[in-house]
Amino acid sequence: MAEAAVSMEEYAVSEACIACDACCNDFPDIFIMNADHTLAKAIAPSPKGRFDPWDIIYVCPVDAISLIKGELPPPPAGKKKKTHEEAAVDAGPIEDNRPWEIRWDEARRRGEESYWDRMKRYGMATTMEETVNQYLFRVALPARVPEHPMKYKWNLPDKMPDYKFDVKLDATGGKIQFKGWLEDDRVRRLCGVSNSFPDRFLRELELPSEKGKEIKFNYNPQEKVLDIVIDKAV
Ligand code: SF4
Repeated sequence: MAEAAVSMEEYAVSEACIACDACCNDFPDIFIMNADHTLAKAIAPSPKGRFDPWDIIYVCPVDAISLIKGELPPPPAGKKKKTHEEAAVDAGPIEDNRPWEIRWDEARRRGEESYWDRMKRYGMATTMEETVNQYLFRVALPARVPEHPMKYKWNLPDKMPDYKFDVKLDATGGKIQFKGWLEDDRVRRLCGVSNSFPDRFLRELELPSEKGKEIKFNYNPQEKVLDIVIDKAV
């Protein structure tokens, strides 16, 4: 007997996307980030019934995701769009008493940050060295909270709080997996508001030749650098 065809749902991402990475983290089979990390894109349809479309639509803080093929059910009562902006957070200490508009204007005139600095917020500012017995990965983390008017309006600090980390070798020994996430509620409030500022990242880095047998890591909070050392399985 022929199997019933599974109907598929398709999504699209509009130019309103702020590259916060939330859809790519939560629904990696459906969304990926473009090479420049400026816009997410929908890469594959999803079988009907696998997800509630509202869970996918509501993951986006700026309403950039829409269902373009499939039937959208009525919005579920009680489910809400995810937003850090609504988080109840204490007003921060005011380090500079001038009006926030003036402080933002000053920051804006300093110009755009580099691509490398932007990649730090995705865990992608990495370098690697190889010795006979080890791989040495260095991950540069952001030193500064990204510029945005709300950074000044909400009196957020300029210095980025430290990320938390989890680093491991995968079961085959051929890849390292590391994730980082921000726990500071005041600064996380800017994620989903500012461009290219996810509140977490998850990266996998392939080891070039030999597999690894042991992994160690050390975070230097002064330099905002995470060093990962992998002993080769030789
Ligand atoms: S803003 Fe974030 S959640 Fe929305 S489409 Fe862009 S990356 Fe995905």
